Amino acid sequence: MFRLYNTLTRKEEEFQPADGHTVKLYTCGPTVYDYAHIGNLRTFVFYDILCRWLRYLGYEVRQVMNITDVDDKTIQRSRQEGVALAEYTRRYEQFFFEDLATLNVEPAWKYPRATEHIPQMLQMVQGLVEKGYAYVSQGNVYFDISKFPHYGRLSGVRPDSQARDSAFGRLQGDEYEREEAGDFALWKAAKPGEPSWDSPWGPGRPGWHIECSAMAYTYLGATLDIHVGAVDLLFPHHENEIAQSEAFTGEPFCRFWVHPEHLLVNGQKMSKSLGNFFTLRDLLDQGFRPPAIRHQLLTAHYRKQLNFTLESLRQSESTISHLFAFLQRLPQLQCEPGRTQAATTALEEAHAHFVAALNDDLNVPGAMAAVFEAVNRFNQLVSTGRLKDADRAALLDFLADADRVLGFMGEEVEKARAGQAPDLDSEIEALIAERNQARANKDFARADAIRDQLRARGIILEDTPAGTVWRRV
Ligand code: AMP
Ligand code: ZN
Repeated sequence: MFRLYNTLTRKEEEFQPADGHTVKLYTCGPTVYDYAHIGNLRTFVFYDILCRWLRYLGYEVRQVMNITDVDDKTIQRSRQEGVALAEYTRRYEQFFFEDLATLNVEPAWKYPRATEHIPQMLQMVQGLVEKGYAYVSQGNVYFDISKFPHYGRLSGVRPDSQARDSAFGRLQGDEYEREEAGDFALWKAAKPGEPSWDSPWGPGRPGWHIECSAMAYTYLGATLDIHVGAVDLLFPHHENEIAQSEAFTGEPFCRFWVHPEHLLVNGQKMSKSLGNFFTLRDLLDQGFRPPAIRHQLLTAHYRKQLNFTLESLRQSESTISHLFAFLQRLPQLQCEPGRTQAATTALEEAHAHFVAALNDDLNVPGAMAAVFEAVNRFNQLVSTGRLKDADRAALLDFLADADRVLGFMGEEVEKARAGQAPDLDSEIEALIAERNQARANKDFARADAIRDQLRARGIILEDTPAGTVWRRV
């Protein structure tokens, strides 16, 4: 039973998709005006973990992630560089996808671009005007929050209250512009020299919030199973999405709201405006490896802030190095056939802890602890010479399975697996060649000794007219 904390109800609830099979998941995506910093990437790696866990549980996942390729920042930056908006944003979109691939993030189902969904947004804005939820002023269209009685249900920020004013006040200095008087822009009249699209209210461009409502509706329908975005988007962005969508469709917009916490630097949110950020490329240039960076981003529970330091990243490097060294040694060990009870028990317990942790509101640190606990116990079996052949294979199966969710060790596990078979095979072939030579030399004692030695390891030899063949028992 997968329990997930729902910001809407403020408690953990059992999660299942509404249709029991396919999860309709909307995730707020990047604004492609610059490289993503690793704070942004923590959020995107979390989306990935959520998707991987849902798939692990057997659900199909329809993840939509919007690409914001028109807003104040993208317009301003492309102008500064004297490049057309689309050309400018495509460049950073490409870097964004490269970063996701580097961090082994599995691709979403759809990555719709805002600029390619203007008709869908206009249809929604027009619907809101017709239904009386929105009003037009000088070529701008605003959502009238006083018309939507549920405004504030998600964030607890009520219209007309002191709280709302202070919440808006806090936003003033933030990356997202303050919308006028609590009513927020659905459509903005064109300013001279800015990219614009035709609309029933004259040329203009969409407000930022409407793209998520319109693209969620286009690809996933009226009601989502899960909507995710970092905590800074809870208010006003997500509150506004709910207002727009529910006013337009008359249906509940989303069943589960999930809000991962921020990555901090020295106790402050990592952000472009504070200048306290690292991009993924900065860290790769310093020699850190992608699996260590992914590991570091997973060291805190998603609802806890994660304070980023190079020192803690070095710890992840060291953890990963030990793990990978162990995995590289594993295929080279001489193991007897069979399995040991200690190993079987260790893996059963590790698997149970792993699943229980992730079912408990995606406790990734707990799931990683289960993995490392298993590795430690196997390390002890190795150092006391008790590890057997089937134990080793079972450990690699367990790690490969866990990595379907964690995603930072897969390649090394596969290498260990690949290393295991050929090495063992070539060793057997060498012994068979030695035995054949012994027989040719009429050294039958040596030939029999090799046959017995192989039999003890579960390898049966058969001398056929075509030569000696072997099989495992
Ligand atoms: P942006 O590209 O600025 O639209 O941000 C992309 C995503 O990263 C949004 O979901 C933000 O909420 C999220 N985000 C921004 N700063 C941080 C941070 N320091 N830690 C985690 N997520 C962040
Ligand atoms: Zn959004």
